[in-house]
Amino acid sequence: MSRKKIVAGNWKMNTSFPVAVELIKAVTNSETASEVTKIFFPPFPFLKTASDVTSNSAEFFTGAQNCSEHDKGAYTGEVSASMIASVGCKYVLVGHSERRTFFKETNGQIVSKIQQVLQNKLIPVFCFGEQLAERKSNKHFETVTAQLTEVLKCFTAAQVTHFVLAYEPVWAIGTGETASPEQAQEMHAHVRGCLSEVFDSSLASQIPLLYGGSCNAQNAKDLFACKDVDGGLIGGASLKAEDFCKIINSF
Ligand code: PEP
Repeated sequence: MSRKKIVAGNWKMNTSFPVAVELIKAVTNSETASEVTKIFFPPFPFLKTASDVTSNSAEFFTGAQNCSEHDKGAYTGEVSASMIASVGCKYVLVGHSERRTFFKETNGQIVSKIQQVLQNKLIPVFCFGEQLAERKSNKHFETVTAQLTEVLKCFTAAQVTHFVLAYEPVWAIGTGETASPEQAQEMHAHVRGCLSEVFDSSLASQIPLLYGGSCNAQNAKDLFACKDVDGGLIGGASLKAEDFCKIINSF
């Protein structure tokens, strides 16, 4: 079955407002494959501007890098999923390894955040992946299975059909060390196997599954050629319009 192809740019805590505007303009005005869904994940203050640019597009979308696990109230500094939806965003990243590591996000919080995302008719891009030590000790499949199943079991098949998944080995994020196409394909096939076990094979074959971790304009083609890789979640390389467009055009 043919799945949606997606290339998403996670800008993390980078850019300034003028740079963000230029970057979005440069990408949206470039020639990029129309069949690829392109998502910008800028920092919160730039979401409204980004979503104003993407709101009338069937190809470009805007998402938030995080959301609160609560719906509203006295949570100073937090941003709710309903606020994110109200400025025209369509996606939210949940469970990024930087949130798990630096902000000690737990699977329980990830579940609550995804519930908020779904309640507000947004699409979660649920990220997971093993640490270097887990890969080295051959525990990467075990780790990914646990991360996936602990979260997915809290949702129905009907809810999970709206998810986008992103496999991001932590040892590859921001390190310049990319998973080989074989490593990516092997894990993506494993993830589809987990989805089949928790739900069924039809659902497993429908969910877009992105690779993230030092994916760039040079290696995207080989990664995207893998049978179970439906695109990429791109960090560093999404900050350069030319590189990001090359990645989009790598299918
Ligand atoms: C990310 O932050 O999700 C990511 C994949 O970063 P990078 O591409 O810089 O490794």
